Amino acid sequence: MPTKYSYLLYFVLLFITGFLMSCSEETEPQKAKLLLISIDGFHPDYLDRYETSNLDQLVETGVLADFMIPVFPTKTFPNHYSIVTGLYPENSGLIANNMYDAEMDAFYSLGNREAVRNAQWYEGEPIWVTAEKQGLKTAPMFWPGSEAPIGGEFPTYSYPYDDDLPYTARVDSVIHWMTMEPELSPGFMTLYFSKVDTYGHRYGPESDSTAAAVREVDEQIGYLMSELERTDLLNDLNIIIVSDHGMADVSDERVILLDQLIDHETVEVIDWNPVAMIRPNEGISAEIYESLKANEENFRVYKKEDLPNRLHFKKHDRVPEIILIADLGYSITTSGRLEQYGVTGGAHGYDNRYPEMHSFFLAAGPSFRQGITTEGFQNIHLYELMAHLLDLEPSPNDGRLGSLIHILEPQFK
Ligand code: AMP
Ligand code: ZN
Ligand code: ZN
Repeated sequence: MPTKYSYLLYFVLLFITGFLMSCSEETEPQKAKLLLISIDGFHPDYLDRYETSNLDQLVETGVLADFMIPVFPTKTFPNHYSIVTGLYPENSGLIANNMYDAEMDAFYSLGNREAVRNAQWYEGEPIWVTAEKQGLKTAPMFWPGSEAPIGGEFPTYSYPYDDDLPYTARVDSVIHWMTMEPELSPGFMTLYFSKVDTYGHRYGPESDSTAAAVREVDEQIGYLMSELERTDLLNDLNIIIVSDHGMADVSDERVILLDQLIDHETVEVIDWNPVAMIRPNEGISAEIYESLKANEENFRVYKKEDLPNRLHFKKHDRVPEIILIADLGYSITTSGRLEQYGVTGGAHGYDNRYPEMHSFFLAAGPSFRQGITTEGFQNIHLYELMAHLLDLEPSPNDGRLGSLIHILEPQFK
C-alpha cells in the first residue's frame, strides 16, 4: 500500500522533472532560420571600389570569401540554380539563360513565363525542395526555378517574378516571414536584387550608375539589419549574401561578327553572347566548325565533345553541337546588330577562370565565425552548407560540405 509519504514523494519528483524539462526546453537553442540573398552581378571588388558601409559592417561580424567561383557559363540562371542545387550545369540542366531541348522540342528563356514555370527544365533538387520534403517551410522570393513545381513540390510561399516590387517591400517580407506563427513561419527564405547587374550592363562595372546601384542595395542590407535588430531577431537568423557572377567592360571595338565568319542563316544560334550556342542545319556541322576554327581570333570554338572538362558543361543533351566562347570583353554579334545597337557597357557569361567573372560571398549569423576571411571557393558547395545549416539530409550533388565547414562556429560543425 502506498503511504501518504510516497504520494508526496511522487508529486515532488513530478514537479522536479517538470521543472527540469521546462528549463531544458528554454535552453535548447532554437534552430536559426536561413536567409539567402542574391545581389545580381556584384563583383567582389565592389566592396572596396564603392560605398558599402552596411556590407562592411557585416564583414566585421561574419565570413567574407576573397571571391566565389561561378559555374560556366557565368550567367544568371545557370549560377542561381547551381547555388541552390549544388550541381554543375551539365547536371542541373540549366546550361544557359536561353536553351533548346530537342526531346521536349521547346525553348527556354528568362522572359518565357511558361518555360520558367515548367519543372521539366530543372534537374536536381533545389534546397527549398529538400527542405519542403523534410517538413521545413520555405519562401524563395524571386529565386530562379522557384516558380516551378520541381520534384512535384512548390515552395510553401511562392512568388511570381516581379522586377518592379520595391526593394524595401522585399526586405519587409523577411520580417513578416520571421514573425509569423511558428507553424507557418518559413525556415528558408531568399531575396533577390537585380539593379547592380542592370546598371553594370548599361554603363559597365566602373560607372557612377553602377556605384549608385551598389549604394542602393547596400542601404537595403542596412535596412534589413536594423529591422532585424529592432524586432530582436538577429540571433535567430543566418544570412548568406552572394552574387551569381561579375561583370566585364565591353566595347564596339571588341566584337566577333558571326555573319562574317559563317553563313548564319544555315545555323540556329540558341544563345548569342558571349557564349554562342550553335545548332547547324543537318549535315553541315563539320563545315561550320572548320570555318570558325580557321578564323579563331578573340574566341575559342569547340565541338561539344571537345569542350574542356573543367567547365563541367558538355555532358548535357541541351548543349548544342558547336560552342563559341568569346575572350573576355569581346561580344558576339552580327554586322547588322552592331550598326543598329552598338556595343557599350558591360557583360558576363565568359569563362569562369577570369577574375572579372568571379562572384561574391559573405555570411553572418549565429552559426558563422566572426570577422574572418576565407579563400575563393566554387559556388556548387553552397547547397551542402545550406542543408547542414538547416539540419536537412542533402540530395546527391557535386559539392562537398568539407570545403566550407571551417567557416562555421565549432558547435555548428
Ligand atoms: P542576365 O541576362 O544573365 O544578366 O540576367 C539578369 C536578369 O534576369 C535580371 O535583370 C532579371 O530581369 C532577370 N531575372 C532574374 N531573376 C529572374 C526570375 N526569377 N525570373 C525571371 N527573370 C529573372
Ligand atoms: Zn546575373
Ligand atoms: Zn546580367
